[in-house]
Amino acid sequence: MLIEKSPFVHIFSSSGVVCLYHSLYVTNIYGSHLLAELFGSLRFPQTIEQAARRLCKNESCIRPESLYYINLLLKHGFLRYTDSQEESHLLSNLQQQAQYSDPRFLYLVPTSACNLRCKYCHIIDTWAAYGHHHMSLETAEAGINKFMEHSSTSCQREIMFYGGEPLLAPEVVKHAVSYIRKVDNTCRITMFTNGTNITPDIAKWMADNDVFVIVSMDGPAEVHNQMRCHADGHGGFEDTARGYDICKKTGCRLGISMVLGRHNIPGLKSAVEYLINRFEPVDLGFSTLHLHKNGENPAMVDVPLLTHEMIDTFKFIREKGVYAEHLFRRIRPFVEQQIRLKDCPSCGGKFLVAPDSSIGFCEAFLGTGRYYYPLDSFDLSNDGYNEWKGIAPIRRDECLRCPAIAICGGGCPYDAWVQHGNINNLDTIRCQQANILLEWLVWDLFEQIKGEINDPWDIIVPEPAQRQMIYSKIAVNNKSLPLQGYSTYGESN
Ligand code: SF4
Ligand code: SF4
Repeated sequence: MLIEKSPFVHIFSSSGVVCLYHSLYVTNIYGSHLLAELFGSLRFPQTIEQAARRLCKNESCIRPESLYYINLLLKHGFLRYTDSQEESHLLSNLQQQAQYSDPRFLYLVPTSACNLRCKYCHIIDTWAAYGHHHMSLETAEAGINKFMEHSSTSCQREIMFYGGEPLLAPEVVKHAVSYIRKVDNTCRITMFTNGTNITPDIAKWMADNDVFVIVSMDGPAEVHNQMRCHADGHGGFEDTARGYDICKKTGCRLGISMVLGRHNIPGLKSAVEYLINRFEPVDLGFSTLHLHKNGENPAMVDVPLLTHEMIDTFKFIREKGVYAEHLFRRIRPFVEQQIRLKDCPSCGGKFLVAPDSSIGFCEAFLGTGRYYYPLDSFDLSNDGYNEWKGIAPIRRDECLRCPAIAICGGGCPYDAWVQHGNINNLDTIRCQQANILLEWLVWDLFEQIKGEINDPWDIIVPEPAQRQMIYSKIAVNNKSLPLQGYSTYGESN
């Protein structure tokens, strides 16, 4: 029988150590230069003996180590028999999984108005074209009903209040939450807010109704205020911090969502350290900037610099045991060896109900004239829904050879649209980010397991339990964390 190398294997090397990484099985094997030499020499199918002989560099003798080596690579799928169907079966199974998607998240937008004018806000232009709309109580109920009708009962439903600034319409929020509790009391509810309009009354009300509050904050005042400003230009930090403190005092569960840009990069670690010490959030979210409709963003930073800052910050927070949403969407698939088929829940998992009684999937498209439909006639046969649902790197030929296919989920379709005019194209910013992160994960795993390659024949295959060392003190399966369904959305079975 003939063997060949798997086309899903990618080679990394650093400080004399070589790692073979299988991007579909999400497995790593570490060894010496022999691994790279073997893979370089396997240009056509051959027998195990021929491959082993090449490894020994001596046609007349085959060392037992060499046969062990080849068989181990076969066992873990780095090499395969030419007639093996295992990878193609896995691939078609993943492609089918990627096409199947149940809606389970609803973004409800009580108002398109916002009292802040954050300089990096990617929806500010498109929402200006959309105009100011305030949701009626009837639309809130109709949106919730539509979501209940079409969402899956087999997974946890989550409803998020989003804006604009949702707390500029507290009567809509209160009515909608009471209605949600009436129709599905198990539904998780999250409020995304800039925190500036929080009163003791609304804070107590959110605590009493088990609404998880996520406040947008980018660092200490001097950092935050560079971007997050009121309409007259003055920074919003003081108002936001006051709102956060009120929520904390009244017993709300609280997280912080940070947007990363030139105001907190470089220096992310110290901004995060400040936020953790000062506010003690249950979790942190790191959002990377989205492009404005003209293809730019005034707060954009160099992508490799941004990614390395995120990595350094992750190393810091994992020792503190703080969960970081967004980063975990990349890290968990690598650790758990489960492919992330999709990144953005808008690709089949999420509806957004807008204040004018239209329904779509991605907030950034509101006001562009694309991908929004009348709420009353919408159902799952909608063409736009089915177009978004199909977006997944595992279904794109150009992604199949990418090392980061297991961890990226395809990035942001809106940014792909801004860059290339098509939501199905690559979001090249997040592609770059995913590949840098993958390379770091490959070497962090080796460091965590204290791997050593001292002899050319040394070889290490990390056990699944060892991969978990990347988490350090973070309890990733803590069910009380917010947005857990959102965070794990798109991971394969
Ligand atoms: S496509 Fe997804 S990630 Fe991108 S802006 Fe829209 S909702 Fe956000
Ligand atoms: S990182 Fe980019 S190229 Fe690679 S799989 Fe993801 S979307 Fe495709």
